[in-house]
Amino acid sequence: MQSLKYYHELIQKVDAFTDSVVSKYGYQLHCREGCSSCCILESVMPVELVSIAQWFAKQPESIRSIIKQGDTHFCMFLHNNRCIIYPIRPVICRTHGYPVFIHNSVDICPLNNNISFEPEYILNLENCNTMLAAINILFIKEVQIPALQTERINLRAFFQSSETDILSIVHTLK
Ligand code: SF4
Repeated sequence: MQSLKYYHELIQKVDAFTDSVVSKYGYQLHCREGCSSCCILESVMPVELVSIAQWFAKQPESIRSIIKQGDTHFCMFLHNNRCIIYPIRPVICRTHGYPVFIHNSVDICPLNNNISFEPEYILNLENCNTMLAAINILFIKEVQIPALQTERINLRAFFQSSETDILSIVHTLK
């Protein structure tokens, strides 16, 4: 599916960007495993749901039930202060903590606010979001799954719904 190819290319670009920030400022950044105050994700675009739903379908019942009972104050994938879906986390999660340009200003995690980031290490999140939205529109056109014909999907509602429905969507996406 062309949209999924574009989505993975976008992830590679965001990861390459954040890798460059870590190489330059790593010793000063507070972002590290166990720092999870950014983890309040509630919804994703349908194109971002694909890898998470495919991952969910492969999990044993013990992991599925952890997800279904997920923390109600933070993201449902935060478990023991760690992201249970880290390798397949959505785009926004890959930018957490890093300096981003959004709404005509630079936004930085308060814990990293003492670092003077050079302009080339500030991610243009508006451009990134525009690309993601365009990829999502293509994805919605490419799939004919009614549950995914929407702008955003609430994660808790989706993963707490019937497992049969989730697995059926995953099967259709193959
Ligand atoms: S998906 Fe992972 S990184 Fe993103 S908010 Fe949830 S726990 Fe945090």
